[in-house]
Amino acid sequence: MATSPYDVAVVGAGPAGLAAAAAALAGGARVALIDAGRQPGGQYWRHRPGDLGAVADLHHDLRTFRALVAGAAGAVTFPGHHVWTMSGSAADGFVVRSVAGDDPRGTAELAARSLVLAPGAYDRQVPFRSWDLPGVYTAGGAQALLKGNEVLVGRRVVVGGTGPFLLPVAAGLAARGARVVGVYEANGPAGWARHAGAVARVAAKLTEGAGYAAALARHRVPFHARQAVVAAHGDDVVEAVTVAKLDHEWRVVPGSERVVECDAVAVGWGFTPQLELPLALGVGTRVDADGSLVVEVDEHQRTTVPGVYVAGEACGVGGAALAVAEGEIAGTAAATATTGAGPAAVPARLRRRRRALRRFAAAMHAVHPVRDGWQTWLGDDTLVCRCEEVTAGEVRAAVEDLGATDPRTAKLLSRAGMGWCQGRVCGYATACLTASACGSAVSALDLQGVSERPIAAPISLGRLAGDAGHTGQQ
Ligand SMILES: Cc1cc2nc3c(=O)[nH]c(=O)nc-3n(C[C@H](O)[C@H](O)[C@H](O)COP(=O)(O)OP(=O)(O)OC[C@H]3O[C@@H](n4cnc5c(N)ncnc54)[C@H](O)[C@@H]3O)c2cc1C
Repeated sequence: MATSPYDVAVVGAGPAGLAAAAAALAGGARVALIDAGRQPGGQYWRHRPGDLGAVADLHHDLRTFRALVAGAAGAVTFPGHHVWTMSGSAADGFVVRSVAGDDPRGTAELAARSLVLAPGAYDRQVPFRSWDLPGVYTAGGAQALLKGNEVLVGRRVVVGGTGPFLLPVAAGLAARGARVVGVYEANGPAGWARHAGAVARVAAKLTEGAGYAAALARHRVPFHARQAVVAAHGDDVVEAVTVAKLDHEWRVVPGSERVVECDAVAVGWGFTPQLELPLALGVGTRVDADGSLVVEVDEHQRTTVPGVYVAGEACGVGGAALAVAEGEIAGTAAATATTGAGPAAVPARLRRRRRALRRFAAAMHAVHPVRDGWQTWLGDDTLVCRCEEVTAGEVRAAVEDLGATDPRTAKLLSRAGMGWCQGRVCGYATACLTASACGSAVSALDLQGVSERPIAAPISLGRLAGDAGHTGQQ
């Protein structure tokens, strides 16, 4: 049975969730804070297990982190708990069900009057030849190993993809002794010049960027604009990659390919919001400037479902500072709503901060788009879905030979996205390949089709059978 209701249940203890919990507590609410991780901090403030003081040199703004942890200290916490489903409504209350990752029998079921969902995002991936070789990592994966375990993914590392996130990844690896043989940014940093106004309003981002540039210069890491890692090579592990110059549409400039030796590759193409939980509750969504499906929120971070608030990357990828601002707004609004008072006006300070950071995020998406030309790097035999071993040729054939007109049907016909990761790795690529083969653009409906997962975390059949009655799932 569910416990007596909390006023606010916050899912996710990253920058957004911590800020939401602290703000809701400050507003007098009884708060539950649930996170799949054993420690607070999420992706941005990821620490070595049991040591929140470690790897300080790899972190930014730890003062904010400590203040948020202290502010959230009055919440009842559920560390290591994966929320696998939630149900309910503002009128009847919500029920949040979780399993403890390190103890499959450990479960929690808690009731809450309102929800703040702050589940963050995961690495967006696009496939390339032999990207399934051991030694090929996502940029976020390489960063997580470094911050969370002080493990280097390799000694001689190539960093590639697009977006400012490549810089801390390369700087962190170099700081810990890896030889970063190059950062290959598929877009050009010159694009930022057109967004000087947006950058000037968030001085901390400028300082952070300058710090990374200085670190790369100090470690003699070459930065290559308009170039990408388009193939990996090796027998059992990655031994080299092909890098190439790209034209404006990201097609390879003929004759520009060259092979670079390495023992690891970290590739990142931005992030994909983690939407299982908000979608399970039926919230409205929209397609953001980076082509991601995100949750639609109003100025109080309210979703279209009463009583459900969303903050952080799930309502638009924009970095930790934006996540904190949104979390504070969501937590305050959720707390005041449960006391019966409508949400008070968002303080001008927070409104201004959120607006400035959202403008910066929009600039980042405009300067670092993912262009369709990556699809021309693939052979028909390039794996797209690694779990089910489905190739690019098979996804295209699902459209061209079998008549699929959307990624969900392409998935049913080819099995792309039906494996262990349930499309978290290949969903974006499958949606893009399907749309291209249909001669259309990726739509919100396409993205929704590859983002919905009614069960958000693995659970045992016994547990599922036990809870099916409550959730109405079959
Ligand atoms: C792997 C990775 C590494 C990153 N590293 C950096 C970095 O070094 N520097 C940087 O500027 N940006 C980094 N980012 C971007 C970063 O995600 C954001 O800028 C920032 O952390 C967003 O904050 P958030 O609170 O929205 O989400 P997150 O920080 O992602 O926090 C979300 C939290 O929700 C929890 N959660 C999600 N689903 C569930 C569930 N079903 N049940 C229970 N808990 C759940 C997660 O465990 C996580 O702690 C990284 C992103 C990724 C994916």
